[in-house]
Amino acid sequence: MISVKHVKDARERISGITHTTPILQSEQLSKICGNQLFLKSEHLQKTGSFKIRGASNKVIHSIENGAKYVTAASSGNHGQAVAYVANQYGVPATIVVPENVSKCKVNAIKAYNGKVEMCGTTSAERLPRAQAIADQENGVFIPPYDDPFIMAGQGTVGLEMLEQVDQIDAIIVPVGGGGLLSGILTAIKETNPKIKVIGVEPEIANDTYLSLQIKKITAIQSTTTIADGLRTNQPGDLTFPVLMKYLDDLVLVSEDEIRQAFSFVMERTKQLIEPSSATTIAAAMFNKLNLQGKNIVTVISGGNVDLEKIRQLIVEVTE
Ligand SMILES: *Cc1c(COP(=O)(O)O)cnc(C)c1O
Repeated sequence: MISVKHVKDARERISGITHTTPILQSEQLSKICGNQLFLKSEHLQKTGSFKIRGASNKVIHSIENGAKYVTAASSGNHGQAVAYVANQYGVPATIVVPENVSKCKVNAIKAYNGKVEMCGTTSAERLPRAQAIADQENGVFIPPYDDPFIMAGQGTVGLEMLEQVDQIDAIIVPVGGGGLLSGILTAIKETNPKIKVIGVEPEIANDTYLSLQIKKITAIQSTTTIADGLRTNQPGDLTFPVLMKYLDDLVLVSEDEIRQAFSFVMERTKQLIEPSSATTIAAAMFNKLNLQGKNIVTVISGGNVDLEKIRQLIVEVTE
């Protein structure tokens, strides 16, 4: 299991690559949520999501240990991040993506000189392909979440929040494979265990919720949630024990609640966030947290969304 020491090491290792992202606030949003909301804005991070943190920690470590080639299997943000870091260090990268990947994500990978290979539609198809290319090229496969270096890198979000916001009561984190959540839990609970950390999943991608209920990793069928960064169908072997140890609560939001939150943030704060990030706002807007009058940091995990998709995501804000 990683410790806060690994997260601090990661912060040092990646400091030349990543931004310290800003905390944004919206009075209107805080008012309707009944809590003071602080938006940790990873949609303004390099490559448009927090994924660059774990990816750079793992890629830099691998290069220091002789890696000459890296691969990843990713539906988008992780692949973009790996391509970006590899390019910065002059190492070639191949990113294996699903056939239905969004256009903006492919274009971004190519803009970072990453090679894109399409393969199937499930991670069960992509993972072995990316692993095989890595083996063939004497390279290193960079996993999206189930890896100590990835988890420690994502945890640097937590260290920054502790410095940026006074008297945090709770932190809200979206959950896919649990890399972001397990890293943040390690940073927060080993520094100030009084801060509550709450995960959020879409109702129709509730694999971690189910796993926590029966205290055992449990898989769901593939899901079509609009929160495409959260479509993993089971928590990781390394991430899940960290959640079991430290997580205070995990709440669920519906597809409609995600749309409402996405639209509200667009209209009122003028920020372009992706649906995966809107889940944390939805949890606060729709009273899933059981908190009133508290200082809450919500992780806005990314902002990569196809322009043409935005129209389908927008709904009338009823608040
Ligand atoms: C990957 C991703 C997540 C989920 O992170 P995990 O580490 O897989 O739990 C959330 N939001 C965005 C935007 C992502 O790209």
